[in-house]
Amino acid sequence: MSRVFLIGFMGAGKSGVGRALAAELGLSFVDLDSEVEKTEGLSVAQIFERDGEQGFRRAERAALAAVSASADAVVACGGGVVLDERNRALMRSSGVVLMLDVSAEEALTRVGSSRTRPLLQDADGSGVRDMLQERMDLYRATAHHIVATVGRSVLDVTREACSVITSSEIGDIDVSAGAGYTVFIGASLMDETNVFPGMLASRSRVAIVTDSNVGRLHAVCIERSLREAGVDSFTCTLEPGETSKNWLRAGTLLEEFALAGLDRQGAVLALGGGVVGDLAGFCAAVYMRGVPVVQVPTTLLAQVDSSIGGKTGVDLAAGKNLAGAFWQPAAVLSDVTLLNTLPDAEWHNGMAEAVKTALLAGPEAVAQLTADAVDLAARDEAAVLRCVRMCAGFKARVVSADERESGMRECLNLGHTLGHAIEKVAGYGTVGHGVAVAEGLRFAAFLSARLLGAPSELQQRVNTLLDVCGVPRYLVTGSVADLAAAMSLDKKARGGVVRFVLLRDVGDWVVVSVEPDVARKSLADWLDRS
Ligand code: ADP
Ligand code: ZN
Repeated sequence: MSRVFLIGFMGAGKSGVGRALAAELGLSFVDLDSEVEKTEGLSVAQIFERDGEQGFRRAERAALAAVSASADAVVACGGGVVLDERNRALMRSSGVVLMLDVSAEEALTRVGSSRTRPLLQDADGSGVRDMLQERMDLYRATAHHIVATVGRSVLDVTREACSVITSSEIGDIDVSAGAGYTVFIGASLMDETNVFPGMLASRSRVAIVTDSNVGRLHAVCIERSLREAGVDSFTCTLEPGETSKNWLRAGTLLEEFALAGLDRQGAVLALGGGVVGDLAGFCAAVYMRGVPVVQVPTTLLAQVDSSIGGKTGVDLAAGKNLAGAFWQPAAVLSDVTLLNTLPDAEWHNGMAEAVKTALLAGPEAVAQLTADAVDLAARDEAAVLRCVRMCAGFKARVVSADERESGMRECLNLGHTLGHAIEKVAGYGTVGHGVAVAEGLRFAAFLSARLLGAPSELQQRVNTLLDVCGVPRYLVTGSVADLAAAMSLDKKARGGVVRFVLLRDVGDWVVVSVEPDVARKSLADWLDRS
């Protein structure tokens, strides 16, 4: 993540430090107020005069959204940018937020009663002091890092800011869905004291749900951390694998909660991959009409995708995930160190979803993943952290914008229309989810060229990216007719018309309804070629 937001009082030195920091990090520098002025064609003071503070804030929010969606940069923000909760969430999820700390008194002295700063104009000082005090709390709550500035040179502050940013591997990501929650990402998180969010410490008992593989490897350290935090816990262990994700097992898990005396003040901690997360999340959603769940994902797939977003549930005989609930976690703790024990096959499943995410997120994400691919295959910790952060950040943005999958969230099905069909035709459990999705991604790129005229390099890029990330090819078995039939019966299909997420280009996705015979013919052609 190399987008940096500088926040703090007027006069904190955001512009000076920002320029120096940008030069140091090799990024461009953006002054948010200047962006607003450029768009509106007026000075900040003139905008205030014309549209009032509200009008200015509207323009500021739009400018911030534009900056957050474009290239990485060091962005110096106006003092009031933190007033809007949406701005705070956006900054935290799309970059590192750095507060330049200066006391209210010092800020006032530095700025004086400047005429170009509208909010200082008609105040005698006391009103301004109240306003600044109020903002101070917001700065502190928004910042990932706070750097002191009083009595220090720009050079000095820049040096510290630089080192803080380049070593900031434990940045967290906020999701505004449900009650709002944080995704903590880092290495060796489980070894730290106080790793568990405060909410768990205040809970009477915690049910740790895991499977026997993960439990054997990692339950002890979780149990210890909870004990050290003074939290009473008990552990429920599932058989590994998708077959545990069923209605009966959900029922017995709920009985285990009740037998162990879990009450409304209790909570669930899901320690495992997608299966554990889905089942434990579902049980948390219905137990006593809902207790909080903290997700501690242990597969790459769960860290980059399934642990965020609150989809929980079980499989039915008629299909996967057919019964469930939206139940947003209270927190997600992604410790990449837990992935060290993950078998290669599971690693590949996660990498396929990471490639999917990068293709949706845009050229920068694809460039990052491509640059890191070799290191990722070797599971280099810094590269894995970058990958998990990029994917979790994107997923968080999508889920925050569309909690219940009524719009934007549908993009996450890229590669999944054929992917699900492959899994179904091969027999669930025969082929890894991610490996099936990888074939779905290759087909989606083919279909994008055919139906949308997407650039021909796109297909090449998708294939190459999957290859360099080490995702193995899967020789699609089953007849075209069976696969096409499975696609037409997909949950997302309407009356046999198959819905595909396709790409006009990297980062530019669209949902396309495809007639069954077109889908069948395209699939046959693609299978012939690959
Ligand atoms: P997902 O749905 O995220 O792909 P699952 O919950 O099906 O994952 O887990 C896949 C397999 O990997 C299971 O057999 C599980 O026990 C195992 N597993 C999960 N996390 C780890 C880990 N950190 N180390 C070793 N094995 C793991
Ligand atoms: Zn998936």
